Amino acid sequence: MITRPKGEAPIPPHSTAPGRLTAQQAFALTLLRDGHAPRWIKQYTGVAPGILIQRALEYDIAAPHGTLAAVLLHDAADEEQCGACEKVRASTQARALAAQRRKITPTERAAHLQRHRKHAAA
Ligand SMILES: [Zn+2]
Repeated sequence: MITRPKGEAPIPPHSTAPGRLTAQQAFALTLLRDGHAPRWIKQYTGVAPGILIQRALEYDIAAPHGTLAAVLLHDAADEEQCGACEKVRASTQARALAAQRRKITPTERAAHLQRHRKHAAA
């Protein structure tokens, strides 16, 4: 019976090959291929979106078009967005802008309330 010492990393076939996938990364790539959002995949597997997209390019993994993952893959591969992905990108940007507008600092809120109180007093 042959036993391999525990914790010994397998030697890559040659140094120019893309780095070996960890079990988490391999799992994350299958989730990406199923169309899950990179942020959700990070919560689930701990693989950061940047690394995930890089790995997907290295291993030629595609995400379904019309998903956020596919938008990131088009970007990372320096490609034009296809029709479905362009729509997703546009709506994501609109949402991000709206979220930014909703962010009001406590100072701004206080100033706003004060203005209203003055109005009410007048
Ligand atoms: Zn696309």
